[in-house]
Amino acid sequence: MMPMPYRMLSSMALRLNGKLYLFDAGEGTQINWKKARLGVRGLKLIALTHLHADHCLGIPGMMMLKAQMEDPVALDILGPPGTGEFVTQCRKILDFRLNYAVNIIEWSPESTGPAFRDEQARIWWQPVQHSRFCLGYRFEELDRAGKFSPERAQSLGVPMGPLWGRLQKGQRVTTPSNRSVEPSEVLGPPRKGRHVAFVVDTRPTPSVYDLCRQADLAVLEGMFLAEHAEHAEQKGHMTAVEAAALARKSGVARAVLTHISPRYENSDLKQLEEEARREFGNLRVGRDLDTFEVNYPEETGEP
Ligand SMILES: [Zn+2]
Ligand SMILES: [Zn+2]
Repeated sequence: MMPMPYRMLSSMALRLNGKLYLFDAGEGTQINWKKARLGVRGLKLIALTHLHADHCLGIPGMMMLKAQMEDPVALDILGPPGTGEFVTQCRKILDFRLNYAVNIIEWSPESTGPAFRDEQARIWWQPVQHSRFCLGYRFEELDRAGKFSPERAQSLGVPMGPLWGRLQKGQRVTTPSNRSVEPSEVLGPPRKGRHVAFVVDTRPTPSVYDLCRQADLAVLEGMFLAEHAEHAEQKGHMTAVEAAALARKSGVARAVLTHISPRYENSDLKQLEEEARREFGNLRVGRDLDTFEVNYPEETGEP
């Protein structure tokens, strides 16, 4: 929550098929963005949890970084009410040049359905409970078509080749013997996409459980050791143990804790991690530039 010489602020870049979705951009985010060699071409969206400096001051830098390349794609910025004004004022006062469109999508009490949707994913948001209005996020990869059965296709008279590809894309085809075959005749049930939650700066409220439910990965704040639980409660934050209990109860597969209080040195992170792991084993305290691959549920577990 405070940039330290040895620990930067919390944010998460999520990459899916070359597209990059950034969750929170605190001061200096572009430094670690460069260290991580993510490349700015794929950056299409920034989602802000709230307008506290440690979550949004990196926005102007990220926007300018993106403007350094030729012909960038538009940038969508999601966030709480006030996000548009913050971005507009930064642009106006700092007077920086942008060579792409910026679309602001602000949460409002009337917001229903997903906050954002593109051809491969949708993003949900919900207010959480912090010292000022704050949103938690859930990124959901769209479900994929069911598994294709070559045996089934052949038995229906669909020869191997382009017709198989069309069926896999969900299109109806006609066999050489003039029989119409529906995709549902050769595809299994749809396979669930991968889900990732990003929830920081909140008490463990019911909306946080909703956002995390059965997520393949949950990035959560675990700001304090249990001995400082009182501070967590007063300031609208979670201890590492609270975050771990939340992960266990909401059925997440794996949790990463972040947004660690500056009162702890990096050498204290082990203790924080050990406390939390007693509640939920598949957990790690995130370090700068950590990378986590999220596998499809059916690909995990079995060798
Ligand atoms: Zn914060
Ligand atoms: Zn905050």
